[in-house]
Amino acid sequence: MNERINNIRDLLIKLIKFRTIEKNLDELKNIIEFCHSYLSGNSLLNFDIFEVNGKWNLITDYGIDVLVYFVVHLDVVDAKPEQFEPYVQDGKVFGRGALDMKGPASVTIELFKNLSDKKYPIGLILTTDEEVGSQNGVKYIVENRNINAKMVIIPDGGENFKIITKGKGALHFAVKAVGKGAHGSTPWNGINAIDKIIDFYLELKKNVLLNEDLDDPDHWHNTINLGKIEGGQKVNIVAPEAIAHIDIRFTEKYTLEEMINMVKFLSKKYGLDFEVLSTGQPVMTDTRSIFFTKFIDSYRAIIGDPVFAVEHGATDGRFFAAKGIPVITIYPIGQGIHSENEWVDLKSLEKLYELFHHFVVNLE
Ligand SMILES: [Zn+2]
Repeated sequence: MNERINNIRDLLIKLIKFRTIEKNLDELKNIIEFCHSYLSGNSLLNFDIFEVNGKWNLITDYGIDVLVYFVVHLDVVDAKPEQFEPYVQDGKVFGRGALDMKGPASVTIELFKNLSDKKYPIGLILTTDEEVGSQNGVKYIVENRNINAKMVIIPDGGENFKIITKGKGALHFAVKAVGKGAHGSTPWNGINAIDKIIDFYLELKKNVLLNEDLDDPDHWHNTINLGKIEGGQKVNIVAPEAIAHIDIRFTEKYTLEEMINMVKFLSKKYGLDFEVLSTGQPVMTDTRSIFFTKFIDSYRAIIGDPVFAVEHGATDGRFFAAKGIPVITIYPIGQGIHSENEWVDLKSLEKLYELFHHFVVNLE
């Protein structure tokens, strides 16, 4: 194994050991401080490090106009304690966040540390709250820092070097129904809140999926998932209250505003309280952009014939898409995101490094 891959592996193992789950605010701070000191090895970099509601962020660039940002999150979803003790086996690193996305993070951080011969028109954004919605990370940064770039690269989706050029929009929301309790044997004396939610959901589902081609092999169609429903008290009591949490994903045929209006309209019709939990616009990359073309050139040089795909889950790309900045999402080889058996292939991390390196040194 060469030195580059060893450095990426060692860095990745260190990053996984930080237990950067939502509640460990100290660890979120520690990992940003660690990355700061690691990147300080490159004296050309400028740093902007700040905390937003307990979540820590680091932005670094060369002090010149940034054409391309790399965007990386260092938080992970919760895991068993042993998953924070990474190990290497058969050329793979196992551990929480190995693929999502401390592996790609190691590649990107290593790249910025190494590009120290001159100033490059690139920037790196490290955040610590992506898994909980990015409100205090990317969303805050896009709204409060002067982020202008021609393209953003987010190595956080599209497994096995698939190039993701479009992603669905997302609307997560809660609805609450209030009914009127009564004995189960005399339901005419009450109003069942769970019934209200079910009726609402069935009509909403029909609308969200209306005219959608559910047989599309890429599943590039709207989807809806009732992820959580709670309510009622007992089998023989008319449910006086119920809530539901619903997840809608939608294609670029719709805007977020249209989706919200549809849900609002039906909530009102069924007398439900409606609360938005999180949102994202659909992401579409402008494939005619010169920077996209340059990326594809590098891809051909390092990986081979490009393979394109679509993304069903939301990434931080949605915040840049909302500003009109094209986004490319790409992943190395790995599996098991958010599962108990998450791993990333080390050689593919090296490939990812070579791809990013080729792209950056050929930017100008
Ligand atoms: Zn991720």
